[in-house]
Amino acid sequence: MDDSPSFDVVVIGAGPLGAATARHLADRDTSVLVVGPDEPARFDDHEGVWAGYYDQGRLAHVLEVPLVTTLLATRSRRRFADLEERSGVVFTTPVRSLSILPSAEENPQASTWFDAGQIMNNAEDLGVPVDALDEDRLRTEFPQLRFPRNHTGLLQKDAFIVNPRELVRAELTAAVSAGAHLVRDEIVEITHLDEGVRVTGRSGET
Ligand SMILES: Cc1cc2nc3c(=O)[nH]c(=O)nc-3n(C[C@H](O)[C@H](O)[C@H](O)COP(=O)(O)OP(=O)(O)OC[C@H]3O[C@@H](n4cnc5c(N)ncnc54)[C@H](O)[C@@H]3O)c2cc1C
Repeated sequence: MDDSPSFDVVVIGAGPLGAATARHLADRDTSVLVVGPDEPARFDDHEGVWAGYYDQGRLAHVLEVPLVTTLLATRSRRRFADLEERSGVVFTTPVRSLSILPSAEENPQASTWFDAGQIMNNAEDLGVPVDALDEDRLRTEFPQLRFPRNHTGLLQKDAFIVNPRELVRAELTAAVSAGAHLVRDEIVEITHLDEGVRVTGRSGET
């Protein structure tokens, strides 16, 4: 090995998954380097790598099929408060989430994605309260909205909007506090050595 710093694990990419991976590893006392560029200052002339989290709002709710999606989302949501507290970065906004679905009689061919019964069962299995609203309740509770005939609603009152930019910032803040090293660079080369690998950034650092 040369004189470059060495780590048990190098995580390439400081986006949602890289940041969370680095935090989990650092929490387990693994020496970890997480390398990735920050969001580009401008999008019109950016020539480096991109990510999928450069925005401010994703809906986090259980009103979806299949069950595994809602299960994973629910497990994540239950940890958001801890991550916000330990990082000091707030990335959630509480909202109500309303899904409008065609009735089974109206649309017997509808995909299971629109199966209100299945969504309710999933929510119940996960212990998340969801209200079923018939047409009358929809009109009463949301007088400002108009709904197509023969549609019903499912309302989750404890949903969130997650800000992915801030979520990544929270994960990286917590990872660094737990001992991870964060380097803002883009890896351009990985060299396999007898004792491990050497990663080289666009900056020339290894
Ligand atoms: C338009 C759009 C809408 C979406 N909507 C939703 C949604 O509503 N709900 C949802 O759950 N998901 C949504 N997704 C998907 C979600 O954004 C991605 O699943 C998530 O961003 C993946 O995270 P990631 O960390 O794996 O990858 P990325 O977000 O792509 O992050 C990868 C990171 O690695 C870095 N990187 C890449 N190459 C290198 C390199 N050589 N060296 C160093 N760093 C490198 C990048 O700079 C980036 O920061 C959406 C995606 C898009 C594009």
